[in-house]
Amino acid sequence: MQTARLPRLDLRRLIILLAMLSGLITLGIGFYASYKVQRDSLIGSTLAANRAYAAKLADGTELFFHSAQQQLAVSAENIAAQFSDNDVLNEEARRLRRQTDSFNAIVITSAQGEVLATAPNTGLLVGQKLNSPGALRALAKREPLISSPYTSALGTLVILISHPIVASDGTYLGYIGGVISLRERNILHSMLGEHFYQDGSYLYAVDQSRRLLYHPQPKRLGTVVAENEVIDRVLQGESGSLRVINSQGVDMLAGYAASPAAGWGIVAQRPTADTLQPLDDLMLKVIRQTAPLALLTLLCIWGLATLITRPLSQLAQRASEMDAPNSAERIQRIRSWYFEAAQLKRAMQLGINLLHQRIGKLNLDAQTDPLTGLHNRRGLTLALEMLASEGRSFAVIALDIDHFKRINDTHGHDVGDTVIRQMAGLMTTCSRDADILCRSGGEEFLMLLPNTTLDSALLVAERLRTSVELEQIPVVGNITVSLGIAVWPMHASNIERVLKLADAALYRAKQNGRNRSEIAEPDQYSPEDSKPDA
Ligand code: GH3
Ligand code: MG
Ligand code: MG
Repeated sequence: MQTARLPRLDLRRLIILLAMLSGLITLGIGFYASYKVQRDSLIGSTLAANRAYAAKLADGTELFFHSAQQQLAVSAENIAAQFSDNDVLNEEARRLRRQTDSFNAIVITSAQGEVLATAPNTGLLVGQKLNSPGALRALAKREPLISSPYTSALGTLVILISHPIVASDGTYLGYIGGVISLRERNILHSMLGEHFYQDGSYLYAVDQSRRLLYHPQPKRLGTVVAENEVIDRVLQGESGSLRVINSQGVDMLAGYAASPAAGWGIVAQRPTADTLQPLDDLMLKVIRQTAPLALLTLLCIWGLATLITRPLSQLAQRASEMDAPNSAERIQRIRSWYFEAAQLKRAMQLGINLLHQRIGKLNLDAQTDPLTGLHNRRGLTLALEMLASEGRSFAVIALDIDHFKRINDTHGHDVGDTVIRQMAGLMTTCSRDADILCRSGGEEFLMLLPNTTLDSALLVAERLRTSVELEQIPVVGNITVSLGIAVWPMHASNIERVLKLADAALYRAKQNGRNRSEIAEPDQYSPEDSKPDA
């Protein structure tokens, strides 16, 4: 029988696949969601912390500038009355320099910008005229100033905080200036330059011309940062926080605040990657800890899937061999422990019973002559095979209705059929249950009589012949039969040969006048014909 190609996937694999997929997707979504929430919160808190830190430092810077200006204002007021006394000026310069760590140097100049006193000894000469940008601007403006950073005569980056010295009559006498070196130790440097940083976070400060004043990388100090949105914002006086790609191409979480006194911007920032690194480590740890549990779950799924699908796959297996002899029994043994499997099992058992009944009936139909209900040729062959396999001896009676053609010709074919049926009935009446009756041709019959001797067979044949002769058949009247008898293995060891001998005996009965029984004559054929049956 041709069978259609069956799909290779089975229910168990499908269930495992489904369960694993849904498990993995759920796990993945869980991981992703928790990662995203924590990541956003980490970024948010880092931005907030950096913003607060930048604001704090900007406040500190602002405060420092105010206090520095105040100190200078007080000194300017103190020395205005004794401005011609160089000792007083020098003493005031020294005091101011020593009293706080605000300034790296103090310089007092005349209205023309000539140095009158300095502290400490900076190499500047008394009487020398200062022409640094800070000095020139202080002289020009004659008001409290904080200069832009510039490179001093000594080659260091400085700012000058200056305050005009004005006599009691309002005459401009000069200015007192505090020089703050951006590289040397002072309060400002402690605040902005010695920023303790870890985890990649750091601080920098820029001036109005986008120049880096404080930065952890010394080689970048003094360089101008061209493109950076944070610097754009902070130099416009804004403060806040922003995630930004900086001028070096690094993704940063920056907080920024402006210091208006000097026009500086202060930025505290941390690379986003460094911020998220602990989270990545954490997630990896979580995954590592989850893995064994996930594996265990997977094993459970595997086991459960096998348990659930076992009855179905066994039923499917049995369905492919429904015609096997013990299939009903094997289906019966399947443990169908849930509703669907139980229903399928029941349906299959019903189906297999029907199938077996149907096959039995088909076999019977194929072996039966429809007109008489006796065995046909196929039934005869099977019966002979059975007898041969059992090795039981049997007698064969071949019989043929005499002059049957005449009945057909005289009364028609239908009446002929009725006679054939009646003949079959008489055969049944005259035989035992164990005898095998067969319609071997039109009006020819064979009887196989197991365990029957020649004498008994002759008796049966005669009894049948007599009852046929005596039977009154409607319309037709009386009929007769001729019979030939042979016995296996008495007459020949080959069964086919025995049948032929019975036929020959029948022929002789016809020859000898019909309505008689003849016994087969001993076989005189070649040894090949009398060979034992295989
Ligand atoms: P005899 O056997 O005595 O020599 O003569 P006979 O007339 O019986 O000769 P034969 O065996 O040659 O004729 C058999 C006839 O049986 C021929 C055929 O028309 C008829 N026949 C065969 N099968 C059937 C059948 O199924 N029904 C009917 N009504 N007739 C059949
Ligand atoms: Mg015939
Ligand atoms: Mg005949």
